[in-house]
Amino acid sequence: MSSSPIEWKCVADKPAVMGRYMGLEVPGSLTQAMYVWIDGSGEGLRAKTKTLDTEPKCAEDCPVWNFDGSSTGQAEGCDSDIFLYPVSMFRDPFRGGRNKLVLCETYTHDKKPSESNRRKSCKVVMDKAKDDKPWFGIEQEYTLLGLDKHPFGWPKNGFPGPQGPYYCAVGADKILGRGVVEAHYRACLYAGVKISGTNAEVMPAQWEFQVGPCEGIAMGDQLWMARFLLHRVAEDFNLVVSFDPKPIPGDWNGAGAHCNFSTKKMREKGGIDVINAAIKKLSTTHQRHIQVYDPHQGKDNERRLTGLHETSTILEFSAGVANRNASVRIPRTVAEDGFGYLEDRRPSSNCDPYSVTEMLVRTTVLNE
Ligand code: ADP
Ligand code: MN
Ligand code: MN
Ligand code: MN
Ligand code: MN
Repeated sequence: MSSSPIEWKCVADKPAVMGRYMGLEVPGSLTQAMYVWIDGSGEGLRAKTKTLDTEPKCAEDCPVWNFDGSSTGQAEGCDSDIFLYPVSMFRDPFRGGRNKLVLCETYTHDKKPSESNRRKSCKVVMDKAKDDKPWFGIEQEYTLLGLDKHPFGWPKNGFPGPQGPYYCAVGADKILGRGVVEAHYRACLYAGVKISGTNAEVMPAQWEFQVGPCEGIAMGDQLWMARFLLHRVAEDFNLVVSFDPKPIPGDWNGAGAHCNFSTKKMREKGGIDVINAAIKKLSTTHQRHIQVYDPHQGKDNERRLTGLHETSTILEFSAGVANRNASVRIPRTVAEDGFGYLEDRRPSSNCDPYSVTEMLVRTTVLNE
């Protein structure tokens, strides 16, 4: 009987087999640095590895590198080199030891940021706003799929029972894929990603993790690396992660990336006035925000922001205390304390956090 590639993969990935090799001693201070970047889709992640002679202490210690942009939707074949500029470094939870994961920005041959490099302009904005100390915390929702791209654990020809019992649930009849969630949580902590929690979501096989609070550009860096770790962990489980904002049409919750946001003034006594002033500005710039809250100028979010399933309609801005059907929610505790943060519930699960945080700061801090 011939074995399929998938069966082969399962054998090769057995811990006992891999352990034999991953346990081998590597001479001197040789370090494997896996460079990670966002591809031409603005959603996908790619990675490749370079051996460094010494252990880098920070991203600046890692050399500039390049890749074939014609294979990632980032360049034409005749002029295909795209440069990788290391910007943020993490410990590698997969290879362990001194090995690293290195998040990179992408640049074209003439040293211009590539089209899907949204970090560059975000960084400029965060530098301008740095005295306001903008903090963000993103709630990343996602769905686990099998290799057939069907939600993991769902009946092959049908649906699980209706939503209700699954959110924050416990029990084998309600929970699908917890192993991935637990492994990812530890991988983030090991790597140095500021993961602040996880929970099971309303739709079965849907989950959330939170990253933050992070200041300025760190929000995007941390969330992108958290996403990379999730894809990579799920790979070990032979599962696939979907960040689609509405993976199953109909009476099933979509997936978002709520962005919690505050400035220094919002976090201090009387900050609620600053929060309300920010919400007023957001109410006049709704369309501008929707344009950058998913990678397709609002098209993806159209399927999700229907006004049902704990969302607000994409068509107009709304805000309220403890209101989960609004564009922006002021958490109850914030209203009671009189300071804190606001929650922008509009960003899609597949948003680029660099674009979302940049736009929030442009509107509310820089008054652009
Ligand atoms: P929800 O009640 O909407 O499900 P979560 O507990 O999932 O909220 O997420 C709250 C997020 O808010 C966390 O990521 C946390 O880091 C972030 N957060 C908390 N305080 C602040 C703050 N002052 N500014 C920005 N983000 C914050
Ligand atoms: Mn080659
Ligand atoms: Mn949440
Ligand atoms: Mn949620
Ligand atoms: Mn939320």
